[in-house]
Amino acid sequence: MESKALSNYFRILKGERNANYLESKKLEINFDLNAQEEKLWEIHDNPAGEKKENPFLSLFDLKIELSNRMLEKCRFCERRCRVNRAKAQKGYCGVLKSKIASEFIHMGEEPELVPSYTIFFSGCTFNCVFCQNWDISQYPEAGIYVEPRVLAKLIEQRINKIRNLNLVGGEPTPNLPYILDVLRHTSVNLPVIWNSNMYMSEEAMKLLNNIVDVYLTDFKYGNDDCAKKLSNIENYFNIVSRNHRIANNQCEMIIRHLVLPNHIECCTKPVLKWIAENLKNVKVNVMEQYKPQYKAKEYPEINRKITKEEFDEAVNFAEKLELDLVEQ
Ligand code: SF4
Repeated sequence: MESKALSNYFRILKGERNANYLESKKLEINFDLNAQEEKLWEIHDNPAGEKKENPFLSLFDLKIELSNRMLEKCRFCERRCRVNRAKAQKGYCGVLKSKIASEFIHMGEEPELVPSYTIFFSGCTFNCVFCQNWDISQYPEAGIYVEPRVLAKLIEQRINKIRNLNLVGGEPTPNLPYILDVLRHTSVNLPVIWNSNMYMSEEAMKLLNNIVDVYLTDFKYGNDDCAKKLSNIENYFNIVSRNHRIANNQCEMIIRHLVLPNHIECCTKPVLKWIAENLKNVKVNVMEQYKPQYKAKEYPEINRKITKEEFDEAVNFAEKLELDLVEQ
């Protein structure tokens, strides 16, 4: 079951290398906590040239500082609301304090990932009309706030029963400062999985570099019109494809594509073709479990399950492209 596309992930599991977030904590750099944000980004993007000084600060500390600055003018995703969430101003997603709707050891993810310690954050940057987790994603106040130190302890207590920390929702993106705070209190060698719609800003992608070990992405739409109609999102394809390219250069990836009824030509085929032409060494999961939920009944073309013919067409297309498919 060990895939070449996930070789670093398996090396972490065997103890042959450290998870990225642990390496970021070890990388000593010198920066002034009071410096302008622009200066901090400069250091963040070129950390190697900095000399260490006391007190000890790391690349990880710098990421925390930058994420706190970003929270004051929120631009973790490309909606770029620029609200001050630290002062309780809500942006589009409505997330203020990070709320956890549920956390458990998930046995239903891709075979390489289970058992996966999965944290479901409330709130999302998208409004998908067919969302299967709409009771979490569309209600950012659902769930409870857990002190980062407490969640870190829960992670450490489960270390012998889990293969990874799986950050999902809703959407993990608005919760990036909280997630870094949790990892600040964590020291176990555990791969970090970023399970996301991939609508992050470029700055958020930079903060995730050297933190995430595997991006578990959701690449749904092959064009902006379907994305606007079904998820109320602008400029989808440019942003999500850009972030897939960036992610592919940062670490390992599993890309999920949920096949939607009547969206084979406009979405499934263009997404799979783009992956084959632009990304290297990635796993792809073509998913058939779509069920009309939430507001899907208001959209006749997606108000049914996919047919066997539709799923077979999607898989045959992926196989012709020689994509490395997740075994079901
Ligand atoms: S994370 Fe939320 S508040 Fe921040 S830019 Fe995105 S939608 Fe707006």
